[in-house]
Amino acid sequence: MVDAGFAPGRVRLARELNGWSQAELARRLKLTAQAVGQYETGTIRPSEESVARMAEVLDVPPRFFFMELVETHEGFFRSLRRTSVTHRRRARALAQIAHDWAAIDDDTLPVVSLPTPRSIDLHADREEIETVADAARKGWHLSAGPVPDVVRLLEDHGVIVIRMPLDTADVDAFSLPFPDRPIVVLGADKNDRARSRFDAAHELGHLLLHGEQVWGMREVENQAHRFAAAFLMPRDDIFDDLPSQADWPVLFSLKLKWQVSLAALLVRARDLEKMSPATYLSTMKLVSARGWRRIEPVPLGLPEQPRLLGMLASKGPNRSADTVLPSRTLKALLGATAD
Ligand SMILES: [Zn+2]
Repeated sequence: MVDAGFAPGRVRLARELNGWSQAELARRLKLTAQAVGQYETGTIRPSEESVARMAEVLDVPPRFFFMELVETHEGFFRSLRRTSVTHRRRARALAQIAHDWAAIDDDTLPVVSLPTPRSIDLHADREEIETVADAARKGWHLSAGPVPDVVRLLEDHGVIVIRMPLDTADVDAFSLPFPDRPIVVLGADKNDRARSRFDAAHELGHLLLHGEQVWGMREVENQAHRFAAAFLMPRDDIFDDLPSQADWPVLFSLKLKWQVSLAALLVRARDLEKMSPATYLSTMKLVSARGWRRIEPVPLGLPEQPRLLGMLASKGPNRSADTVLPSRTLKALLGATAD
């Protein structure tokens, strides 16, 4: 990417990576918070000396401030109440760095090829979402049945997937629909393969259904959830397998086969009207009573692991990314994806 002059938004980005407020950065730079605010909005352009000083304090290469900043919206975050604003901003900043890294090494990564997005609105019904999920599977030439590896599938089609470092454990999965290369961020919880797969499919749902549009938290989240269920468990493939009663041996074997949680299977059985709402409710009560809402039986093993950024890193030292992006952040991104 070409240097595009000083990019004021990068001051904010570097500050958010550090988890600092404007006041905190001002204190460290011995400036007023107002001056920091003016750097961030571009009202004032910092001198060369100020750039050098900011780079040192914020622990980023000076060139960081001159890389073009590709913008997108705030991101599809769930449960905003659960996550502190600082953690959310930091998580978003990490995702932006992953995006920038991919932009620098763009020619070595798979071309972005998402199935054609479908414009959908607030009132899209269940049937429309099923249709979009079905079209997405067809667009990617998936065969019938379970998706072998959702993370791999996203990466093979050019989406960068990262896992949050553990110090942002309260941040759920989210995605950023950058126009040049979308980013999917999975939560730090490393022990739930079923959840990780569902999260990845949910974020794919946002990228295909919503893209740059956000019109309301609740509807958008529900639609992405329905998409994930339909994408991972296509109606025509799973309907006959699903039980109409709380048949545990059948549910356990379906969990293994489809690599989704029992909860997701039960919701799917209800939504496809294989299981009555009353049976669903009484079954979920049993699930709760047995403590299975916290820890489900039939563990599926380690979650799917992203590979693309690790692949970029394995190209060795003297990578151009190191001269533009903060190396400790690159390491954090790798640490979070590698094990
Ligand atoms: Zn979401």
